[in-house]
Amino acid sequence: MRDSYFNKEQKRKKIDYIVGHAPDKKDKILKCWDCGDEFVFKIGEQGFYQSMKFAPPKHCPKCRARRRHEKRKREKELSFNEER
Ligand SMILES: [Zn+2]
Repeated sequence: MRDSYFNKEQKRKKIDYIVGHAPDKKDKILKCWDCGDEFVFKIGEQGFYQSMKFAPPKHCPKCRARRRHEKRKREKELSFNEER
């Protein structure tokens, strides 16, 4: 009886340990590959990226917006060239 209680306690402690040391339990500071700026990868975002099976972002929000904008511009130019 005492043994099983002890085992349960051990198990619970092990889970606490795993959860407490999960790397995704706090905001992460990542460095942008483009401009070298540091940006925060928030817990909420980490959860989202994980659930979507995305790799962590490599670029700061600023560069991401710029790249998105450039991509759209390129696609526009491409479709414009195709039309001619
Ligand atoms: Zn950047």
